[in-house]
Amino acid sequence: MKHVLRVLLCVVVFSGLLFAQQRALYQQTQYKGQEIGKLTGEIYYARMDDYVSVFMVTSEGIILAEPIATEIAAWLEPELARRFNVAVKYVIYSHYHWDHASGGDAYADTARTIGHENMLKGLKMPPANTPLPQNVRAQDTNGNGTIEKSEAQGNLKNQFELYDANKDGVLTGAEIVRGPLLYVHTPELTYTDRVTITLGGKRAELMWKPTGHADDNTIVRFVDGTNVLFASDWITVQRVPFGGDVATKEEIALAKSVEGMDFEYFVCSHGKLGKKADVISNIKYREELRDAVAKAIAAGQSLEQVRNSVLMENYRNWEFYDQQLPQNVAGTYRALMGDR
Ligand SMILES: [Zn+2]
Repeated sequence: MKHVLRVLLCVVVFSGLLFAQQRALYQQTQYKGQEIGKLTGEIYYARMDDYVSVFMVTSEGIILAEPIATEIAAWLEPELARRFNVAVKYVIYSHYHWDHASGGDAYADTARTIGHENMLKGLKMPPANTPLPQNVRAQDTNGNGTIEKSEAQGNLKNQFELYDANKDGVLTGAEIVRGPLLYVHTPELTYTDRVTITLGGKRAELMWKPTGHADDNTIVRFVDGTNVLFASDWITVQRVPFGGDVATKEEIALAKSVEGMDFEYFVCSHGKLGKKADVISNIKYREELRDAVAKAIAAGQSLEQVRNSVLMENYRNWEFYDQQLPQNVAGTYRALMGDR
């Protein structure tokens, strides 16, 4: 129990490090290779391995849902120019995390970037005196409070340059907590609640849906004759959602607010392409999880017992069942206990 609470605390405090680790997880999935495919009307998806973005082609240019990462942008930018003969005019940031918002530079000649105003907060450098996160302190072998290149291990070693915002060859606590954001840039345009982009007579609606995962979370609904909704790192398609906050009152209400929207195709930033039915299944999973954990708590079970008894059998074939269910259960347990 103590261990679990410590893990949950790390999730909140050291998100820069946590989200760096996520990509390694996604690289293990069955989805491989680069691909552009048509969804409906003039809406297409672009995939590189597990990562998926969506774009709309109009007579006046392209609106792209997220750049994802530098290597994806390096492939996609020339590919879009070659196939569609119009320039990318808008690049939307779904949220500030490095593995979704890096690479916007590739489109800088023709496009403007746009994100929710909270993205600015996510990109801000924490105070200079921010200590090294607990889980990397062991790497500081000379005990000087920073991680030199020769000390870095794991993600800090692999992504040293991306963490090193001021490029001085040393990682401070602030740089590590902020995350590997070197290639994530401040959006040129920001919005507060919702905004509609019109290009070539077609609309893309951006809506703010602040989640536990990202408080700058933007979803995109492609409106005219298309019926496609894109949401990043949140509502997953036949995949157990990521993290601990998935079945809180707020998260369920937020997911339900999407279900009521007008769309047919649903694209999460990861894994399988979906339809509205997948969004409904995702919400159902969250509600069943909440109910199962509540029932176990009412029966007097401890967190350890709840983890062993809430198995969500109907979802055993969903991706990330083994990895994410324990986190989902622990987070839901914590949220429900907190409500009492
Ligand atoms: Zn994310």
